Amino acid sequence: MRYYSLNHPAEKVSFKEATIRGQAPDKGLYFPEQIPVLPADLIKNISAHSHEDIALQVIRPYVGDTIPENELRRIVSETIDFPFPLVPVTPGISSLELFHGPTLAFKDVGARFMSRCLGYFVKDTHQEVTVLVATSGDTGGAVASGFYDVEGVNVVILYPSGKVSSVQELQLTTLGKNISALEVSGTFDDCQRMVKTAFADPDLNRALFLTSANSINVARWLPQQFYYFFAYRAWTEKAHPPVISVPSGNFGNICAGLLAHRSGLPAQHFIAACNANDTVPSFLQTGQYSTRPAIPTLSNAMDVGDPSNFVRILEIFAHEFSSLKKVLSSYSITDEETRATIRDVYKKYHYLADPHGAVGFLALEKYLAGHPGEKGIFLETAHPVKFYDAVESETGEKVPLPDNVKILLGKEKISTKISPDFSALKNFLLA
Ligand SMILES: *Cc1c(COP(=O)(O)O)cnc(C)c1O
Repeated sequence: MRYYSLNHPAEKVSFKEATIRGQAPDKGLYFPEQIPVLPADLIKNISAHSHEDIALQVIRPYVGDTIPENELRRIVSETIDFPFPLVPVTPGISSLELFHGPTLAFKDVGARFMSRCLGYFVKDTHQEVTVLVATSGDTGGAVASGFYDVEGVNVVILYPSGKVSSVQELQLTTLGKNISALEVSGTFDDCQRMVKTAFADPDLNRALFLTSANSINVARWLPQQFYYFFAYRAWTEKAHPPVISVPSGNFGNICAGLLAHRSGLPAQHFIAACNANDTVPSFLQTGQYSTRPAIPTLSNAMDVGDPSNFVRILEIFAHEFSSLKKVLSSYSITDEETRATIRDVYKKYHYLADPHGAVGFLALEKYLAGHPGEKGIFLETAHPVKFYDAVESETGEKVPLPDNVKILLGKEKISTKISPDFSALKNFLLA
């Protein structure tokens, strides 16, 4: 499999190069030359296949011969070494819990896969790689945990000061060793812009080997397809596939779901569940795509006004608005609705949703109200404890602390504060 830059389709690279570079030199996102079609038997008899086997069959065509089979099997099995339960919440709605990994959010899957691939690729090169990553909340922790102590790889994380939850902040500022956290006095979009500028900066690229671990990196983006197949494996009504609602910010996760669908994953429909950052919901309504500054919300990991991965979704649908609209709907959910949903879901169904999951739940409920007879899944993308302040004020009860959070709360935060301009980042990296 080769990958082309969405800015420059003629130039193609291998999975290895796409993973090491992150972004094409022309700043374009890499996209696979073909979308593989999975064997019909895998879908038809999916319950007979293990998670490891499914994941391996899904990812193998994308990796090609850049990683030998036994190594790839090891990487895949370490990546998905935790449960992905599908939990019924209402008669028509189930929660796909993606928060059972080490940092309690779905990003663990992408980060674990990517760190292991990159570790494999740089092992024999004797070259230090610097992974530069902007986070709106959960990416930082997942990347920090995934890359912690990986030899030959340094990680620099930029996060917007005061705009991530306390648990999220501790997850990315308390590891030390090869992980540095930069606390930026700005928004996630500022962080993302600084990172993008760094990748294009000649001085930095002379001094360092920079790569990205944001969801634009193919090695983070592609393995996110796995859990959509795991969901279908656990779905009991195989003849009546689910509507799938994905809490979306940078649109990497849902883009992986749509890619999986193209490869043969049965799904009735997809829903991009957004908070007040409604770039995509209003695009699907009006046909006009206009990015806007990020608005801070309760579901802060989705506070993105200019979602990087949306261009990949357009590419999957060959930029045909009408075919995209047949498969994808999108809703913008307010913070008030999010709070009410956390409350209602807890009271009525005894299920504890985090703010992101609540956005996914409500968007799905709204869609199903207009489509009687259909059933669906929302992705519960983070453990409610990561947002305990918001959750506890709605339910009136304490969220039980998982052990790894208890340990975290006793640790000391170590970050470097910088202003939201590129020169501050450049000085830090060159120091
Ligand atoms: C990152 C994140 C999202 C958004 O995922 P994208 O791939 O950026 O759309 C949703 N929920 C949580 C908890 C996240 O950490």
